Amino acid sequence: MSVNRRDFLRIAGAAGVAGATSTVAAGSAPATRVSDDWMGMLTDLTLCVGCRKCEWACKDANQLPGQQPIDAYDDKSVFERRRRTDAINLTVVNRYDPAAPGEQPVYVKTQCMHCFEPACASACLVAAFRKTSEGPVLYNENVCIGCRYCMVACPFEMPAYTYDDPFSPAVRKCTMCFDRITKEGGVPACAATCPVEAITFGKRSELLALARDKIAAEPDKYVNHIYGEHEAGGTCWLYIAGKPFDELGFRTDIAATPYPELTRGFLSAVPLVLTLWPALLMGAYAFTQRRDELARAEAEPGENAATEPQPGDHDE
Ligand code: SF4
Ligand code: SF4
Ligand code: SF4
Repeated sequence: MSVNRRDFLRIAGAAGVAGATSTVAAGSAPATRVSDDWMGMLTDLTLCVGCRKCEWACKDANQLPGQQPIDAYDDKSVFERRRRTDAINLTVVNRYDPAAPGEQPVYVKTQCMHCFEPACASACLVAAFRKTSEGPVLYNENVCIGCRYCMVACPFEMPAYTYDDPFSPAVRKCTMCFDRITKEGGVPACAATCPVEAITFGKRSELLALARDKIAAEPDKYVNHIYGEHEAGGTCWLYIAGKPFDELGFRTDIAATPYPELTRGFLSAVPLVLTLWPALLMGAYAFTQRRDELARAEAEPGENAATEPQPGDHDE
């Protein structure tokens, strides 16, 4: 794999923190072992009709600010620009217009991919992310120091930050509705709400078999590629599509090597990082602490202490 500037920054971010964790025990990312029992999701992009009900359901389930009546999600003007997930939209749907007359547009729902070996966890100094034994990657804001190296490290650019919250800024991303799926019969809100069953929830190993069966049964309908089977070392969220993924906004330059593993090679090549990174990170931490203190001072009671309600389901 060629490593471009963006990847270099991601790998360097993860590498630096891995170096830091050699001196700060709390930051070591737990080793993971691939499990057939991990839960996952399979999005079939040939079925998605772009109704955005999954966006509504996600916001509803996570009690995120800015919710609107479900009918408001019929607004198709949002497809006029490319959207990314952010702190109040943990999943977004984008439209990819047809390249030739007669073709249909393709709608692509994006969210955290729940990587086998998450670069976000590897990059985190204080182990605020962890790969659960059920498969989802979760974030714990109680230990987060706000350095945002997870945002740099993620190859899918999924973690978002609540920049607008001066009191308790935190990272936000899809949890695979962990609180729901760990209850008997629980299904993630987006999958439960999708009117055309474009999103299937289940064991990742079974979803992979389902994806292979679908492709084998209709080879003219699907491209022979299950996105997430190998990308970044494998992810719990999988996709199948009728067009090549590079035409649908997916990064196809991501190697099958997990990003934390790339980190290890980088570390051996740049040992200086091992010694410098802890100081840089602690400097970043001090900076964010100071910034937050100033924000709190500016918003003392009697001035402007109001804040937006915060999502309640983003944490472990
Ligand atoms: S997609 Fe990004 S945020 Fe999600 S688990 Fe992978 S590295 Fe972490
Ligand atoms: S799994 Fe849950 S948190 Fe993730 S996109 Fe779907 S509804 Fe949102
Ligand atoms: S709810 Fe289903 S069909 Fe509608 S946009 Fe989301 S994934 Fe596509």
